[in-house]
Amino acid sequence: MVAHSPQEQERAEPTEFESALETARRQLAHAATHLDLNPNVVERLKYPAKVHEVKVPVERDDGTVEVFTGYRAQHDSVRGPYKGGLRYHPDVTRDECVGLAMWMTWKCAVMDIPFGGAKGGVVVNPKELRPDEKERLTRRFTQEIRDVIGPTRDIPAPDMGTDAQTMAWIMDAYSMQEGETTPGVVTGKPPVVGGSEGREEAPGRSVAIITQLACEYYDCPLEETTVAVQGYGSVGANAARLLDDWGATVVAISDVNGAMYEPDGIDTASVPSHDEEPEAVTKYADNVISNDDLLTLDVDVLIPAALGNVITEGNAEAVAADLVVEGANGPTTSSADSILAERDVAVVPDILANAGGVTVSYFEWLQDINRRAWSLERVNEELETEMQAAWDAVRTEFEQRDVTWRDAAYIVALSRIAEAHEARGLWP
Ligand code: GLU
Repeated sequence: MVAHSPQEQERAEPTEFESALETARRQLAHAATHLDLNPNVVERLKYPAKVHEVKVPVERDDGTVEVFTGYRAQHDSVRGPYKGGLRYHPDVTRDECVGLAMWMTWKCAVMDIPFGGAKGGVVVNPKELRPDEKERLTRRFTQEIRDVIGPTRDIPAPDMGTDAQTMAWIMDAYSMQEGETTPGVVTGKPPVVGGSEGREEAPGRSVAIITQLACEYYDCPLEETTVAVQGYGSVGANAARLLDDWGATVVAISDVNGAMYEPDGIDTASVPSHDEEPEAVTKYADNVISNDDLLTLDVDVLIPAALGNVITEGNAEAVAADLVVEGANGPTTSSADSILAERDVAVVPDILANAGGVTVSYFEWLQDINRRAWSLERVNEELETEMQAAWDAVRTEFEQRDVTWRDAAYIVALSRIAEAHEARGLWP
């Protein structure tokens, strides 16, 4: 390990702790340099349209009342209703919600689905809530943001610390107040109350599809590809298992406790995902390495699918993979991104790779509005078609402009958003 002088540590700090908003704004500014965009549109896109902050009083099981803070950031709705997840996490901040909401705007645009971008959350450690406390928190939070959400207004979905059950509570609380069952107010619900088949696996499935397309693009058949996946939750586990099924050799997977490393390949189906048995990866491992070591393993493909800001200025030089496919939102800091670009490591961005989640959310919303469920086969088929179309659009920009994959994805997204802003104009 290299010892850093205090000055070096000071210099390194801003990137290590870069907020999602800083990263999102930097990426926007950078991508805008490649496009002849109307600067007035870029100016508008730097800011969220609205950020709602609410207090959420909750009665704990011991009878005391605790007051939590919740947010809903609504970034841009030029192409359709606001859309994006709700996060329950102790590190949730206003700025993080805004940055993540911006990414949702680009994500929906790169997929060409008719939604804008939003994100919200509650500052809480969900592991410290009992299920009935989590239910009361969710219902009261729903009540506090009820006026600003709705099936044609803003449609929340699961994110870190929330799941299908959380969405069912939101749908119920909202519907009870509206006086009518309104499944389209949230996506990612259990199928029995209007959720879509395949929604839970969708972000991981899209990561796997995009990895396959990228490997094909670089003439590296999956059968000859080694993969390391950080995170074994719904994104990481589904991506790892599909890639394993499709012939890739998954050599490392991880959770918060550390990583399992098997150079000859892991039987991914035999290791429980976070949903099946929380934080159990290392329990099943013969050979455990750290999460940091996983990121620098000599593999063909690295898939960070856990937290944001894990590939930083501090470890980007040591990333040995040729291809990084972002499963998490914002796993690469801006400085790490530049280092990887200089080193010719291809980074396929989150707004394309994990966009299967919001794409199947869109399918779910359509099913809710039409009161007609689709089969799993249809969902997966249509997801495949949408991912291929988005990949083709991004690949065209990548090839024609000789930019990074991230810039190419931003160019596709920003062109569509800017065109919509030009068409609608500014009023009054
Ligand atoms: N939270 C997911 C994401 O970051 C899904 C959002 C949605 O389905 O609205 O893409």
